[in-house]
Amino acid sequence: MEKSKKGEDKNMGKVAIYPGSFDPITYGHIDIVERALEIFDKVIVAIAVNEEKRPLFSVEERLQMVKAFFKDTPKVIVDSFKGLLVDYVAKTNAIVILRGLRATSDFEYEFHMASMNRSLDTHLDTLFMMTSKDYFFVSSRTIKEVARLGGGVEGLVPDLVVRRLKEKFKLPVTKRKQIRWDD
Ligand code: ADP
Repeated sequence: MEKSKKGEDKNMGKVAIYPGSFDPITYGHIDIVERALEIFDKVIVAIAVNEEKRPLFSVEERLQMVKAFFKDTPKVIVDSFKGLLVDYVAKTNAIVILRGLRATSDFEYEFHMASMNRSLDTHLDTLFMMTSKDYFFVSSRTIKEVARLGGGVEGLVPDLVVRRLKEKFKLPVTKRKQIRWDD
């Protein structure tokens, strides 16, 4: 691969890496990727393998859902990685780590992670993109909680993810019964 300056190669242009659990991918994540594609030539969605987090979906399942969504978007590369993010980034041609911010509560964790990554690799910067107004309340965790209890998450995650959540929680696709207090 022919490199011009750090992180930029003649074949791929400017590359950002978007790491996360994506357990599962939501439209909040997708919105960040789509906006990043306005700035970068390629975005690598990198699914972190971290069994300590006890994910609902296996890495293979998560990869499949993300790949299915971006199958017609060649500017998005989907991959998974184990171990330190900085080690993985070093093997790619990414120039920045991309992360999303929803609320001030995200800030502290993200600030520590970005600072730690910069101390592990002094050249590595993290770029933060603010969530959109439509998705500021969307997180993989709340999606799973709502789906587990049978709530609708359509419009917040891709249709394939809706189906996979229903399969995981073995939810029937039936209409809700109305409670009648006078019965
Ligand atoms: P992690 O376990 O690494 O936090 P997540 O999959 O939960 O992985 O999130 C990956 C990144 O996407 C994080 O930077 C997170 O803040 C961001 N993110 C998640 N949901 C949204 C959203 N609705 N809007 C913007 N950013 C988001």
